[in-house]
Amino acid sequence: MKEQAGCGLKKNDLFELKIEDIGSEGEGIGRYDGFTFFVKDATAGDVITARVLKLKKNYGFARVEKILTPSPDRVTPRCPVAKQCGGCQLQHLSYEKQLEYKHNKVKNCLERIGGIENPVMEPILGMTEPYYYRNKAQFPVGVGKDGKPVIGFYAGRTHSIIDTEHCYIQARVNECLMAAVREFLTEYQIAPYEEESGTGLVRHILTRVGFTTGEIMVCPVLNGDKLPHAEALLAKLQKAVEEYNQKTALQVAEIAGERKEPIFKLQSLCFNVNKERTNVILGTKIIPYYGETYITDYIGEVKYQISPLSFYQVNPSQTRVLYEQALAYADLAGGEIVWDLYCGIGTISLFLAAKAKQVYGVEIVPEAIADAKKNAALNGISNAEFFVGAAEDVLPAQYEKSGGTMRADVIVVDPPRKGCEESLLATIVAMQPKRVVYVSCDSATLARDVKYLGEHGYEYVKARVVDQFGQSGHCETVCLLVRKASR
Ligand code: SAH
Repeated sequence: MKEQAGCGLKKNDLFELKIEDIGSEGEGIGRYDGFTFFVKDATAGDVITARVLKLKKNYGFARVEKILTPSPDRVTPRCPVAKQCGGCQLQHLSYEKQLEYKHNKVKNCLERIGGIENPVMEPILGMTEPYYYRNKAQFPVGVGKDGKPVIGFYAGRTHSIIDTEHCYIQARVNECLMAAVREFLTEYQIAPYEEESGTGLVRHILTRVGFTTGEIMVCPVLNGDKLPHAEALLAKLQKAVEEYNQKTALQVAEIAGERKEPIFKLQSLCFNVNKERTNVILGTKIIPYYGETYITDYIGEVKYQISPLSFYQVNPSQTRVLYEQALAYADLAGGEIVWDLYCGIGTISLFLAAKAKQVYGVEIVPEAIADAKKNAALNGISNAEFFVGAAEDVLPAQYEKSGGTMRADVIVVDPPRKGCEESLLATIVAMQPKRVVYVSCDSATLARDVKYLGEHGYEYVKARVVDQFGQSGHCETVCLLVRKASR
């Protein structure tokens, strides 16, 4: 191949660039003199003056210096710090176009990585209100330039904290909770944790909000075993929640509208201990302080208890849509044996249990399995059994134990971003389920695993993206594969 001659640009140069595409992280992509440039906060259809940030052999990174002609798909982000904050990558894009982008991203991965020609995709299921939908927040706490505590979000790809009072994708009630924490830290001079020195006490504030029940958990993450003056924090939080309820009631009365939010209640104040010098947010120890160490919430008709350490989908109304889609793809008649791998607190398992003979869930976090068992009991479900451990250990071990006779009718997997280990996929194939329902939060690993399953007797049927994360580039997909021999 001919050596690239270079694009004639160097770092910091300004140049005009037409953005033609959107990349896998939501960034704009444009071509200049044979070079591909990736530009954060730019979008397809923009013409910009770009500034070169970094040059590689035949591609580079640039930033938007000026938008010369805005893309017709652009909207003004609601959040004033949308550009700096690492949380939302797509606020500058209309929601309709965000959905189109996500649908195409998954389709491209299935084609390119999965090797599926023109994959069948059902239309994406979007959110009715793509703001204020998150039920879980992890706010980093630090020290500002003026020495005062800052609470907010990390700037993209860094650990510098953007002090934020109002986040447009979090449950609204978080704003008053964080104001109470801020006031508490200042009044009692509690030191925020400082990453560089490893000193200070308060690292993060984890909150969980039950959108149906109104139950709130606040769980400060401590670089220590105790929060001094915790009683004052409790009082401030309770007062803040009370005031928020009153304010909402007044607003609703004023516009004679319908109350969209539940009446909130501080259900739990507990602490998480994390003394490690690490980027991992949560430690493993939970210290109860006030109320329970969990909140309760619903997805559809199913009630769930959620502990601080357990994974729980962040967008409950779309989670219901996602699970219903998974259930539709599972196509259960009532007599099936179903495995739900990476089951978390048993959310999908319990959804499936009503329609199956027996469900087995597998999950690596012991606290989540404890929640899953409680949740089965809470809902009077007796045909769900749960195993703690890595799916790639538990399933092959169970299969071995059965002397290779263990079978399943349907296997559901919902792995973290890295997807499934090949040893797990091999066991799934050996168990000969008629259907595999793959729920995925990473389209690249989904496509990789679909390819493996395709080469081992499982045919790709269809997939559907269910948007759980409006304004961000993240994508949640449900995909159906069937055993070729059983078709
Ligand atoms: N299905 C659940 C959880 C999905 S998130 C829900 O919808 O709520 C992925 C889950 O996989 C997390 O709970 C995580 O703790 C778990 N996990 C991560 N690695 C795992 C592994 N190797 N084996 C089993 N579970 C794992």
